[in-house]
Order: sequence, then structure tokens, then C-alpha cells
Amino acid sequence: MPNEREATANREAVGLDLNTPSADRITKTTCYMCACRCGIKVHLKDGRIRYIEGNRDHPVNKGVLCAKGSAGIMNHYSPARLRKPLRRAGPRGSGEYEEIEWEEALATATEWLGAIRRSDPRKLAFFTGRDQSQALTGWWASQFGTPNHAAHGGFCSVNMAAAGLYSIGGSFWEFGEPDWENTRYFLMFGVAEDHDSNPIKIGLGKLKSRGAAKFVSVNPIRTGYSAIADEWIGIRPGTDGLFILALIQELLRAGKIDEEYLCRYTNAPWLVIQDEGAADHGLFARDAAGQPLVFDAVTQTITAAHQVEARPQLAGSVALADGRQAVPAFHLVAKRCLDPRYAADAVASETGIGADVIRRIAAELAHAAFEQTVVIDQPWTDWAGRRHDRMVGRPVAMHAMRGISAHSNGFHTCRAIHVLQMLLGAVDSPGSFRYKPPFPRPTPPAVKPTGRAADIQPGKPMPGPPLGFPTSPGDLLVEADGTPRRLDKAYSWEAPLAAHGLMHQVIRNAWAGDPHKIDTLFLFMANMSWNSSMNTAGTIDMLTDKDPATDDYKIPRIIYVDAYASEMVAYADLILPDTTYLERWDCISLLDRPICDADGVADSIRQPVVAPDRDVRPFQDVLIDLGARLGLPALVKEDGSPRYPGGYPDYLVHHERRPGVGMLAGWRGAAGDKQGVGPVNEAQLDAYVANGCFWRHEIPADARYFKHVNRAYLDWAVGMGLLDRAEPIVLQLYSEVLQKFRLAAEGHGDVQPPDQHRPRVKTYFDPLPLWYMPFEEAEVARDTFPLHAITQRPMAMYHSWGSQNAWLRQIHGDNRLHIHRATAAKLGIADGDWVAVISHHGRIKVQAKLMDGVNPNTVWTWNAIGKRSGAWNLAPKAGESQHGFLLNHVISELLPERSDGYRYGNSDPVTGQAAWYDLRVRIEKVAAAEGVSEPQFATLPTPPNLPRRPDVLRYGANFRAPAHGDAHVTGDTK
Ligand code: SF4
Repeated sequence: MPNEREATANREAVGLDLNTPSADRITKTTCYMCACRCGIKVHLKDGRIRYIEGNRDHPVNKGVLCAKGSAGIMNHYSPARLRKPLRRAGPRGSGEYEEIEWEEALATATEWLGAIRRSDPRKLAFFTGRDQSQALTGWWASQFGTPNHAAHGGFCSVNMAAAGLYSIGGSFWEFGEPDWENTRYFLMFGVAEDHDSNPIKIGLGKLKSRGAAKFVSVNPIRTGYSAIADEWIGIRPGTDGLFILALIQELLRAGKIDEEYLCRYTNAPWLVIQDEGAADHGLFARDAAGQPLVFDAVTQTITAAHQVEARPQLAGSVALADGRQAVPAFHLVAKRCLDPRYAADAVASETGIGADVIRRIAAELAHAAFEQTVVIDQPWTDWAGRRHDRMVGRPVAMHAMRGISAHSNGFHTCRAIHVLQMLLGAVDSPGSFRYKPPFPRPTPPAVKPTGRAADIQPGKPMPGPPLGFPTSPGDLLVEADGTPRRLDKAYSWEAPLAAHGLMHQVIRNAWAGDPHKIDTLFLFMANMSWNSSMNTAGTIDMLTDKDPATDDYKIPRIIYVDAYASEMVAYADLILPDTTYLERWDCISLLDRPICDADGVADSIRQPVVAPDRDVRPFQDVLIDLGARLGLPALVKEDGSPRYPGGYPDYLVHHERRPGVGMLAGWRGAAGDKQGVGPVNEAQLDAYVANGCFWRHEIPADARYFKHVNRAYLDWAVGMGLLDRAEPIVLQLYSEVLQKFRLAAEGHGDVQPPDQHRPRVKTYFDPLPLWYMPFEEAEVARDTFPLHAITQRPMAMYHSWGSQNAWLRQIHGDNRLHIHRATAAKLGIADGDWVAVISHHGRIKVQAKLMDGVNPNTVWTWNAIGKRSGAWNLAPKAGESQHGFLLNHVISELLPERSDGYRYGNSDPVTGQAAWYDLRVRIEKVAAAEGVSEPQFATLPTPPNLPRRPDVLRYGANFRAPAHGDAHVTGDTK
């Protein structure tokens, strides 16, 4: 990228007039057109946004701006922006509303929520979509007293997060990154193209321009990142675990594993009790102090794992003091991975990857890791005080995301990736995957979910957060008979490690009153009647279904907060309109989803760039206001007055989660001279604004790698308030946590699953890496539904957020079903034909597009482009509704009925992650081609007083001097 001077020279070279100021004000803030949170500079002219550019000083994007970011203008001026609070005036779903004043809206919400809180706080279900305020919303839910809270992680990538946090104390997602500068081999699995978008693009640019690293993309579809990979592996969906385990087998057979790394930094040498049938079978053998034990090959004795002089043995059975046998964890992992079912030849046909390719990739990984070692001349000291002259790394980096995660076998596939990393010694070593602070954290983090009967009292907060990390069955939120306590069944035997909740089950369970009835469903930024739900038509029916006995809706009340007239708006009883991201204070907190990088800790804010021109309020302000009106203890002072009368900016500065730790870590202390931890600074937001709306603090040079065991990092992290204790974080090659749940299923312990769930828990809570066929594929006839159907998220749209964006709609105005040419030829389908897509759940009609770069057994489409007619203030005949479509219509939120009649959720059995990508379909050419996708739903009316859609959009024409007929332009979306 050219610097400012070069950019100026370039502009002058093409004759641009540089003397006319393009803006009379430039304001720095943070983009929110996707979840990357890039720094932006918003140029304003006469109070209107003229253009947006990337902030070159910002740590996330360093000036890079994507199509979405620059098109933020069109989100801001969208004619779909809601304008005033609305109250439902017709039947639910009719879209008939009347405008009301904020006071009435807030009084109504307070009355509804207050009655719940005084009687049974669990009757509030508070779920949020892809927002970045979870540090506030989760805390608010606890203050209210309901455990029924989560954000969108359960239908996004909780498998990735949980497998990482339970295995290596960190995860991919935006919580870690490849060592772009040093890696020699980058293996990427199923990453959505809009995810961590600019950071990954910048990183790939670095990696490819360096020319010394190979980039391999494993993805059924060759678009986006895969299109620029040095090698694309078009794997069959849901079989990545087989591929990874076959790679591990090849590495084990070749002896290409990092034994020293395994012994020093993982639980590979810890002894696992082998006493089939005993209550502690499969648990670690421990000494009287509870320390895990290893067998020292030098002294031939059993000793505590933290004895650094020991040379622990990685294989072979040893006798424990009580006479029972035990083997090192590595022994069990190796035995599992060497199973013939994971041989390259055995997995080739299932994965669609030739055995020769698997062997070659394994050899390339081994070569990069062990023959191309990266050495950084930086002394460091490990947790045990051992001094190392240099940092020596295995330059194999991996990254994975939703393509791995959104399968019912996703948790174990993610864990298999982490096992592969550990075996190669490629976790936070130079050239490998690197943690971004506040990670690594203990495996898993120490926080437990709250929501037992004793935790929920009328009129009282809960004693802890709704979400956390169970480590044994005793941490589950279940009734005495084993039935779930939470509405979404998170932390029950159906989804024990549901660290992000199960948002995709909320509406069904609320409608069914299973496991309990609710009164109010309070949703923020979650388009649950459309692209955020499986079984869309069924969800719409549940939202509008009435109890014949009372003539009341089965979900009695729905409050919805959104900035735009999305499909969900039509199903709410009360709508609280939010601002756009350019009209409010906001916070990207270390307590939430931070913007750190591997070399620095960082957080950021958004500041209002323009004032709202409608009667709307920032959701965060509204939540704080509602909390005060409800008298939530932490939101009111002793005299009952609001604790944060200045709303969210007041909260950002003054709220402390624990002494010295607040929402923002920069410029703390009265003088603003403290970082991470410190007293409140009244001028903190001013300091952020003056610095371009972000704060970043460098990690010391000797603390930047091996963070999980690096003394300097652990001490630094404690000082910054990121860790409670400077103790080593031992990587979990073998998962004792999973074994504890399996033991419960086998009849051990006080908390055991009901009989109905025992086989499932016993099967899937395997402490060793595992692959099994995704549930839908295993349960429907493979011959009847021979194809996989999945979605990709395009770089230019972030879920449904781009739907109303006039500029981005020109990139993705509708979507097609992409089919491999050979597959289409067999079915007699030509480019542009209309086809039926049929699953065990339903049928849609869509238009086909043929291509080569897709697994032949897979069809796919872009995610969330299809819209309901009339939604988002689009024309009723807009391409998004007429030619666009959602795959969601043919995805069931439940698995097929079992022999006992029970239907599990369409989810991973360990975490509850929504299994979007398990979908199996067949496609048939449709004879009649009238040119409209199906299903079609009744056109939604536009909410009151939304502006007219422009017929011709020429935004910005009025910034120029009148010329070329500009005096007559229409459609400057004022
Ligand atoms: S990657 Fe995301 S946050 Fe960054 S500029 Fe693009 S839309 Fe904005």
C-alpha cells in the first residue's frame, strides 16, 4: 500500500484536483460492517458522510478497507432504517404497526419485564445476534436473574471455540492468528470469506508475497481464500476429521512428532488409569496433592508431572502404587490415531482426497515443521525457570472456522486439528498458530455457568454469568431428573459443553414450552424469522401460533431491537429501534471479543460520527436505561436513581467488573497512565478519541511466543488483568473433562444422564480424537439424498447486514445454486435451469449455476442473500426475493425421529453447535421455469414512515458542482 506521499503523487499523476477539500470534517471510529472491527476515517461534508477510508494507524487493518467497509455509507443512509419505536397493531406477522413514543415503549418493556422478574426471572429469554456487546448483555442477564441468555455463537462456531478452549486454552476464530511473517506452511480449513476478513487478507498478502510458504486450503468450494491458495483440497463436507486423523497417522508412522514439546508443554506423558469399569478409569493418576503423575524414564519411577528434571515416558504401561496399570496419554492418542480406519487408503473415498495426496501433505507438514525450523534470536524463560537462548519454532500454521465447526462432528474435528498442532509442536511457537491476548487461558477457563434452582430467585440477580465452561457433570444445569433447566437446553445432557448456548433451538423450545414456558422473548439484532433460523417456515408458524385455550400466542411477548426493517420486525410486539454504528458510542472490550494481535493487547471504541436524524436510541443505552427502571442492583445507586445516567459512555468509563478492571483497558487511572488494570479515568474516552478510537499495548519481546508456558508472558498477563495466576497452561492432548462425562454415562458419580441419553454421552464424550459421520448423513438415506448442500459467506456481505445496502446489492443482488459441471451433466441440468432442492425436511426451487471449483458431491450458495418480499424496504419484486433464496428452508432444527420417538436438535452432541452444514439433498430439474424462487411468503408491508426507496441512486452527486444533469438526480437517500 502506498504511503500518504506516494498516494498524493499518484493522484497528481492522473490529474486529480487535490486543492478542493473533499471533506470539512474527518472523524475516526471503528467499522461495523462485519465482525473484524477495522479502524476507519469517516469523511463528512456539510454534515453528511462523503466517504469512508481505512485508518492506516489502526492495528487491525492498517488502512485496508474492504467493499463492505467503504459501503457503510449505504447502511447508514439506508431507507430500511427504522425511525421510531413501534407497537404491533395487527396480528403478529401482519407487519401492521403504530409508532409510539420512547417513554411509552420503555414503560411497556419495564412493565412486562418487571412482572417476570418479580415472579420467575427464567421467563425472560434474552438472546442476541451477531452483536459485539456480549460483555454488557451477559452481565445484564445475570443482573436480571435469568440464565436464558446467549448470543449467536451457538449457531456460528462454538465447536471451534470450545474445542480450542478445552484443548489449548485458545482458539482460531479471531482469538489467534497464523504467524504470517514466519510460517512456511499454512493449512486453512473451511474459513468463511467474510470472517476475520481484512486481517486474513493482509496476512495472506504477506505470506504470498514472501514467496517462502505454501498455502493449502481445505474447503469443498474454491472461492475467496481458496481461489488464491497454492493448493486447493476440495474435501467432501463433514469429513475433515478423517483427513486430519489420516495426516496424524502418517506423521506417527514416520516418527515426525515433537516429543520434547509434547513432554514439556502438553499432558501427553500424564498417566491415565486403565481400570475398565472403575469410577476413575480413564482419569489421570494423581498424587496425594492432586498432581498428575508421569513415569520418569531415567529414574524408572513415577513422579509428579511438574518435576522438570524428569524425562517422562510417552508409551508403555506402568504399575501404579495401588497395583493398577496406567499408560501415558500419548500412548492412547497414538493407538487411536493408528487405527486402520484412519489410514490414508481407508479415508480416501470418504473424504474424496487421494491417499497419495494425504501422504504428500503429511510429508510436507513434516518437512516444514522439522526441516525448516524457524529460530528467533530472543532468549526467554519458561514457567519452570528454564532459560532458553533462542525461540525455536515449527513453522506450520493452521486456521479453521465455520466449515469445520457447523457439523454435528465439528467439536471432535476441531479437537483433531489441535491434536495435530500439538504433535507438531506448532502451538504458539515461531511460525505456527499464535495466541492473541487475552488467550491463552486455562483449559478450559475457570468460569462456570450459572442457573441452578438456587441461583434463580425472584427479584434477585444470579450469582454468576449465564455462560461458562463445565468441567464435570456436576457443573451441568439440569433438574434432579436430568432434564434441562435452560430454555435452549444448553448445559444439559443434550449439549453439556454448550459454551455459547443454542440460539437455534430457542424459538422451537419457547413455542413448545420445552423444557419450560416463557413469557417474553427479547431479541437484539437476530433475524430469527429468516436467515438466522433453520426451518424458516416452521419458525414463522411458531412465532404466530396461538394457544386455542387462551387465544394468546404460545410465545406470549416478543420484544425486538434492530436498526433496520428486517424480516424479524414483523413478528415482534414491541420494536425498539437501534442506531447505525456511526451514530453511537460502542466498545470492543477485552471482556468480549477483543481486537488484539499476537504481539499486542488492544481494544477500541466507536464514537458518534453523526447524530441520529430519527427517533432512535442506541441499544446499549436502552439496556442500561431499562436496567435502571427495573431496579437491577448494579444499575441503580443506593437511592434507586440510575447508576449510569449518561448511558453507555458513562458505563464504559465507570463500570468495573472487578476492582480496576472495566470495559476498556487503555488509559486507566485518574491520570490515564495505567494500562490494563487501574482506577476509573474520567477522561478515558477522550484519550481513546485522541488516539483514533483504539488502544494497543505491545507484549514484551521475550513474552511473544510460547505464551502458555512463558514466564514473562504469564507475569505480564497477570499484571494486565488477563490471567488470575501466572501458572503454566498445559495443553490437553487427552481430555479428562470428556472422560468424566463418559464415566457418568457409564453409571459413575452423583450426576448421571437419564437412560435415554446415556449411549449418546458415552459415545461422543470420547477423551481421544474421533471422527463419526455427521448425524443427518447417517440418519437419512444416502441414496435418496446423495448430495451435500452448504453455504459460503461472501466477502462483500456479512450475513443479512448488507441486504439493504444499495452498493453491495450490486455485487450480490440474488444467488444461485452452484453445482459441479459433471454432477449437473449427469442430472441433465444446464446453466440457468431451475431445480428443486429436496431434503428430508422440505423442498425449494432455485436457479442453477454450474462451475468447476466445487466438490462434485456438493452444491452450495451464498449465505443470507435471499430475502422475503417487502423486507428491508426493498421493492416487493427485488431480485433478493424473486431469484434469491435461503437454504434454511430445507434445514431442520431437529434430527429425524429416533426409534423411541425422541428428536434431538440438529446440533453437535458435545457443544450444541448448530449443524448447518450437515444438510443432505437431492436435486431435480424443474420443468416449469416461470423464473421465481420458491417458497415465496406474503409480501411484508413497510413499517410506518420509512422513506421512499430511491428509483435511481446517485448518492454523492450533490457533493459535486452541478454538471452533467446532476441538478435532476434522484435518490440521494436523505
Ligand atoms: S473487514 Fe469488516 S470491519 Fe474491516 S472494513 Fe471490511 S467490513 Fe469493515
